[in-house]
Amino acid sequence: MAADRHIAIAGGGVAGLTTALAIAGSGTRVTVCEQAGRFEEVGAGLQVSPNAWRVLQTLGIADRLLPRSVAPHAIRMRRGRDGRQIARVPLGEAAEARWGAPYRVVHRADLQAALVEAVEKTPAITLRTDTHITGFEAKPGGLGVRAEAGPPVACDGLIGADGLWSSIRAQITGEGPPVYSGKVAWRATIPEDAIPHGLDPLETGLWLGRDAHLVQYSVRAGRELNVVAIFADRWSEPGWSAPGDRETVIARFADWHPLARALVAAPQTWVKWALADRAPLKHWGHGPVTLAGDAAHPMLPFMAQGAAMGIEDGHVLGQCLSAGAEIEPAFRAYETRRMQRTARVQREARHNGEIYHLGSIAGRARDTALRLMPTDRLLQRFDWLYGWGRR
Ligand SMILES: Cc1cc2nc3c(=O)[nH]c(=O)nc-3n(C[C@H](O)[C@H](O)[C@H](O)COP(=O)(O)OP(=O)(O)OC[C@H]3O[C@@H](n4cnc5c(N)ncnc54)[C@H](O)[C@@H]3O)c2cc1C
Repeated sequence: MAADRHIAIAGGGVAGLTTALAIAGSGTRVTVCEQAGRFEEVGAGLQVSPNAWRVLQTLGIADRLLPRSVAPHAIRMRRGRDGRQIARVPLGEAAEARWGAPYRVVHRADLQAALVEAVEKTPAITLRTDTHITGFEAKPGGLGVRAEAGPPVACDGLIGADGLWSSIRAQITGEGPPVYSGKVAWRATIPEDAIPHGLDPLETGLWLGRDAHLVQYSVRAGRELNVVAIFADRWSEPGWSAPGDRETVIARFADWHPLARALVAAPQTWVKWALADRAPLKHWGHGPVTLAGDAAHPMLPFMAQGAAMGIEDGHVLGQCLSAGAEIEPAFRAYETRRMQRTARVQREARHNGEIYHLGSIAGRARDTALRLMPTDRLLQRFDWLYGWGRR
C-alpha cells in the first residue's frame, strides 16, 4: 500500500511544503496544490524556535538556511514609553544548550525558497501552482480533490494546509470566517544602512505598551532588520499584504521612546495584516482527510509559533505515515498527537496578546513580575514548547 499511495496537499505554505517533504520520505507520492502562480516574498521575518529548527534539521532544510538566518543572543523586553528594560531572556548558546537546537530568525521568503528547492529536488513530490482547491469528494477507492480550473486530483488521502481561510476546513467543519482580534500587525524591513543607531542587531527587541507592541530582529544574515508593529484597529480585511500608511504607524508610536520612534520611522513602506484566529477544534478530519498548519489551528502571533506548529505537524504526519501505515488510522493518530499541544499554544497566544497590551497599573505589575523573575525561571517557562522533540 505505502509504495504506491498518493496524497494531495492543498496549500504550499510553510506547513504544506514541510509536510510534503516529511511524508514523501515514507515512500508516498505527493501532489502539492498551491493557488498562487508563483511563490512570492510574502510577509517578512519569522522566528524559528528550537522545536521547529530541530525538524528543519531532520529534513535537511536547516543547513540551507544557516547562511541566510541569524541566531539572536537574547530577547530584550522594554517599556515602550521610556525604553526601560523589563527583562532580558538569553538565547544564543543558552537556548541551544537548554532546548537542544538553536533559536534562529529568518526571512519568510528564505524559508519558503529553501523548502521549494528541496521539494523540487524530491522526485516523489509534484508541485502544482495556479491550482485553487475548492473541496473534495469521496470516489470509489479514493478521493477526488476539486480544483477551480482543470480536472479533480485523484488521490488516496488529502491534507488541507490551506491556511487561515482553509476551504478544506470549511468543508469538514462547516464553520464561517475566522475570529478577528481587533488588532492589526504592520510589517516592514529596514536595510542594514538605515537601522537606527542604538539597536543591537543581534538582539530581538520586544517593546510593550498599552494596546500596542513592537518587535524587531535581524534577517537575511543581518542585511535587513524586520519590524512588526501591532496595535488595536477595527480594520479586518483578509490577506497577507495590504499596503499600510506609513504616517499612521509613525503617529501611533509618537509618544514612545525615541529609539522605538526611530524604528517605526525608518521603513519607507509597510504592509498590514488583520489578526484573526479560531478556537481549537474537537476534530480535524474524517476518513482519509486531515488538516495541518493554520488550517488546523490558526493562532494569533503572540507566541511566534504559527509556522513552528505547522512544521511540527509535518514532522508528526511523516512519522505516523511511515512504515506503510494505512492513511486513515495514521491521520487519526497524528490528530491525537497534535491536538492538545496546538490547542494550548492557540490559547496561550491569545492570553499573551492580552498580557503584552496591558497598560497602567496592570502593565506595571507585569513589568515588575518579569523584572524580578530569575533568568532560569524565564527560560523554564518555555521548556514545554521549545524542548519538543528533543531526544
Ligand atoms: C505578524 C505575524 C508574525 C508571525 N510571526 C511568526 C513567527 O515569528 N514564528 C512563527 O512560527 N509563526 C509566525 N507567524 C505565523 C505564521 O506566519 C503562520 O502560522 C504560518 O505562515 C502558517 O503557515 P501555513 O502554511 O499553515 O499557512 P499559510 O502560510 O497561510 O499558507 C497557506 C498556503 O495555502 C495556499 N492556499 C490557500 N487556500 C488555498 C486553496 N483553496 N487552494 C490552494 N492553495 C491555497 C495559500 O496561497 C498559501 O500559500 C506570524 C504571523 C503573523 C501574522
